[in-house]
Amino acid sequence: MALDTLGEFGLIDEIRRRFASPNGMTGIGDDCAIIPQQSGLDTLVSTDLIVEDIHFLRSDMRPYDIGWRSAAVNISDIAAMGGTPFATFLSVALPQSVDHEWITQFIDGYQAISQQYNVALLGGDTTSSPDKIVVNVGVLGTAPHGTAKRRDTAQEGDWVCVTGALGDAAAGLHIILNNHERDNDIARQLLAHHYRPTPQVEAGLALARMPEVHAMMDISDGVASDLRHILEASHVGAFVDLDSIPLSPALRSYAAQHSLDALQLALAGGEDFELLFTMAPNTPLATPYYKIGTITQGNDLQWSDPSRNFKGFTHF
Ligand code: ADP
Ligand code: MG
Repeated sequence: MALDTLGEFGLIDEIRRRFASPNGMTGIGDDCAIIPQQSGLDTLVSTDLIVEDIHFLRSDMRPYDIGWRSAAVNISDIAAMGGTPFATFLSVALPQSVDHEWITQFIDGYQAISQQYNVALLGGDTTSSPDKIVVNVGVLGTAPHGTAKRRDTAQEGDWVCVTGALGDAAAGLHIILNNHERDNDIARQLLAHHYRPTPQVEAGLALARMPEVHAMMDISDGVASDLRHILEASHVGAFVDLDSIPLSPALRSYAAQHSLDALQLALAGGEDFELLFTMAPNTPLATPYYKIGTITQGNDLQWSDPSRNFKGFTHF
């Protein structure tokens, strides 16, 4: 069978079926694995792979930003569960075409975000590569036992919420791929979201303290794909109100200027690294959030305009 028939998530499912998680541990299927410790804390672990020409183009992304992003997407997976990130492991495969200056700047970016989030670098691996740059980062986090928010705990009647505006990162990528003007405030804002994503660690920690918050994940493939993961894991459906999707003024102007569908960028674009969560209706939260829909019976994802459909990103 071809891999595109099996699909990214079909392949992950096939692997998952062969490796049961040991008792008490949560394995494949969420943003992180959850490993309970004797201390009463749970250790959270995740890993992410970044490949040149799949996740970034060397000509379009500065090494500093690739370093930043490699750590950011991993720290985001700890934020996704409401944990505190504390360490990463960094493995790089580098072709001959990469020079010392490139790797120095890469590490500068990686170090800057690591310091910002108080995350140590504890190890990794370094090897050569025939042609492309490959970066793998593993991240460790911690959370009081049983408090990490998972994808499989959404409840019928919950509100579906996000922590911030969606689509800026996708619009930033659109600017790059179409070689549009970068030297203006709107483009700078959208590009920053693409190049330097901000993991929502503080928001994740605050949401994890609320028992009314039921399911949570980070938005890495777009709500259209990511919300489906919550629905499948929790055996529920959802209704999403397209009029309530938060869009930044920059995204609105950019979409209008280039006759683009802002909702398509916001829901299918992905890589915003905002948090997507469900909670009991009307829960008072200190964290700013936007309600975008509700959890329903069944297993369908319904959009308020049934003539619209959105698909998030998947590999293969
Ligand atoms: P995220 O976007 O949050 O990083 P993914 O969509 O990449 O998560 O992965 C979904 C789940 O599948 C995660 O729990 C991840 O650990 C697991 N997973 C992905 N690829 C593999 C693999 N090759 N082997 C084992 N588990 C995997
Ligand atoms: Mg994730």
